[in-house]
Formats: sequence, structure tokens, C-alpha cells
Amino acid sequence: MIVSDGEAKLMFELLVMSSEALAKALSSLLLPAVIFFLFSLLVKGRDTFEAIKGCFSENIQNLFWLTLNTVLVTPLLVLLYRWVSLSGVTLDYMEMLWSSMPSFIVVFCAVFCGDFIGYWRHRLEHTRFLWPGHLIHHSDRKMSWLTLERFHPVNRLTTFLIDGSLLLFLGFPPYAVIANSLIRHYYGFFIHADLPWTYGWWGKIFVSPVMHRWHHAEEKAAHHTNFATVFSVFDQWFGTYRVPGLCNKRLGVSNRVGASLIGQLCYPFKVEAYRKRVDQYGDQQIN
Ligand SMILES: [Zn+2]
Ligand SMILES: [Zn+2]
Repeated sequence: MIVSDGEAKLMFELLVMSSEALAKALSSLLLPAVIFFLFSLLVKGRDTFEAIKGCFSENIQNLFWLTLNTVLVTPLLVLLYRWVSLSGVTLDYMEMLWSSMPSFIVVFCAVFCGDFIGYWRHRLEHTRFLWPGHLIHHSDRKMSWLTLERFHPVNRLTTFLIDGSLLLFLGFPPYAVIANSLIRHYYGFFIHADLPWTYGWWGKIFVSPVMHRWHHAEEKAAHHTNFATVFSVFDQWFGTYRVPGLCNKRLGVSNRVGASLIGQLCYPFKVEAYRKRVDQYGDQQIN
């Protein structure tokens, strides 16, 4: 195969972009790692080290998905973001509305709207059409803050396409769309952490680590509940809120995908993964 100078240059630039993005992604984990280690020491004391050992192999898988997404998907998302933002398909009057408001209100509205869109996108991911891509996120048996990085590239792409393009369509300026991604991403670390916090009364407004842990529980009653990331109000308004106390149930899903990373990677590309079947989500039928 003959590669022209231009193609070689582009491939080299993409390689450099991916390597830089991976170095950034890995170094950005250092601060959350310290914070969640301290939280864990506060809650579990010496048992922290046992807990870290217990989720070690799952976290190696989480880092695999992080690496894969950063190297393969991030450059694609950058190109897609430019394409979507340059396409100009946006509500002009909303754009004018945001430009007349102080930036902190615009950011709050972007996070609130982003979570509303994310809530419905997440519900869609639990239907059989997007479930084969989303299932990987639910395969972690020892959930920790790093579970946030466990997403199949197909899931990453659908998340971006649905959330990012709808926010841009609503006329939000790029800084608010980026702030929404960062705030909901970092808050996502928090709700995946193994912390026994329900927030008490505040749990009726914000998603707590316990509330999202129930979303990952294997038992049937927990399926199709607790879809929001930041505001639990969406689950309450649309009848999917469920927090029956602390969650000490078995986590993950029982499915036919298996533990092989290659098998998991190929799964959303198999036609049979989208067929209606009884045990796709473990033991219940997907609609
Ligand atoms: Zn889910
Ligand atoms: Zn999750």
C-alpha cells in the first residue's frame, strides 16, 4: 500500500493528537484518585485498601475502555463537534436569549437541559436498540468512581451525538456546552463512587452515589430506574426514581457477552445483539 506524504502527515498528526489526549486523560485522573481515596479513608478507614484490591481487575478494564475511547473516539468527537457547530442548525431566538444572560445562568441552564436530555438518552440506551452499546457500562461488578470511564466507543458516540447536538440546537454557546460536559463528567465520578451517601432531603434534588448504585444493581426491581446524572428531579417527575435505602445488592448484569474484552468490543456490531430476547438485561425482557 502506497501512502502519500499528505496522508502520512495526517496520520502522524492524529497519532500525536491521540497520544496527547491519552496523556491528558490519564493525568486528569490523579486529582479524582486522591479525592476518592480520601473519601474512602473517611468512610471505610483501613478497609479502603481491601476495597481497592477488590475492584482492581474491574478497574484495569475501566482503564482499557478509557484508553480506547481517548485514542479512537476523542479525535472523531473533535471533528464531529466542529462539523455540528459549523452546520448552523440552531434555534436563533434561543441563541439570542442565552447571549442576553449572565454566563453563570447560561451554564446552569446548559447543565439542567443537558441532564434532561441525558435522562431521556439514558432511557433510550436501556431499550434494545442502544442497549448492546450501553451494556458494557453495566458490566462492572465492583463499581467504583472509575466505572465512569467504562463505556463502549459506540455508547460514547451516541452520547455525544444526542447530548451535544441537541444542546447546540438549543442555541447554547460552545463555552456552556463544554461546561455542561465537564460538570456532568466530574459529577459522574462522584455518583459512581462507592460511598454510602444518600444526601437525605437533598437526594430529592440531586443524584447521590447510592441512587446511581441502585441503577447498577442486578436485581430486577432496579432495572429501568434512576437514569439522571445530576438532578434526581427528572427521575421523580417521570416515575423512575427508586432509592429503597443503602444499596448492598449484587451489581452488574448477567448476559451472554462474557468477560473477553474483544467479545465486548464486537458485541454492538452483531445483529443478534439487537434481537428481542428474554435475558439480554439479565433476566428480563427488553422492549
Ligand atoms: Zn444505564
Ligand atoms: Zn453508571
